[in-house]
Amino acid sequence: MEIKIAKNILNANENIAEENRKLFAENNILAVNLMSSPGAGKTELLDATLDALNGGRAAVIEGDICTTLDSERLAHHNVPLVQVNTDTIGGACHLEASMIQSALDELDLESLDIIFIENVGNLVCPAEFDLGEDIAVSLLSTPEGADKPLKYPLMFKQCDVSILSKLDLAAPLGIDPGEMETNVKRINPDALILRLSAKTGDGMDRWIDLIKSRFEEKNA
Ligand code: MG
Ligand code: ZN
Repeated sequence: MEIKIAKNILNANENIAEENRKLFAENNILAVNLMSSPGAGKTELLDATLDALNGGRAAVIEGDICTTLDSERLAHHNVPLVQVNTDTIGGACHLEASMIQSALDELDLESLDIIFIENVGNLVCPAEFDLGEDIAVSLLSTPEGADKPLKYPLMFKQCDVSILSKLDLAAPLGIDPGEMETNVKRINPDALILRLSAKTGDGMDRWIDLIKSRFEEKNA
């Protein structure tokens, strides 16, 4: 009985994710779902990305259990921001497709090319919930250690793109990004891996090129 209920929840999520996907397609929007543990640098990456895109008809849906702190950090970009605080809807430690559906009601979709979704910081269940996005991205920051893809395989299996973030900290902390990369590849041989530092800008150009080319491919 329990198993049946859980399955229904995931089925319901999948149906709404499909509706979101349709809505993105109808409006020629590329949707990017950023996932990672807390503190891996999702907001920092978004900050640098919005700088690089110079606004770029982008919007952000900010997922957090509590607070609007990340939205406040990004407010100076003057892009549309929708905050989703999951504690007001049961304290979920991840975003679900229905939350994105509600957030999309708050956005003028015709005016947008890209929607970035910052998921709740959590390396586990966000990977279980399809939001209807075009690109699922995991961030793994160098200080977290090379073993994380092996310990949390679903996240790295589900993401087409894996970003090794905070690359500037690898050398000072004596961390080998090559080992992190090897472990991501062990879980997902097809993953595109990008090493970058949003702080120094190192590697940001490949990330921005990826977003632009995926947007063009989708709307070709
Ligand atoms: Mg954040
Ligand atoms: Zn969760």
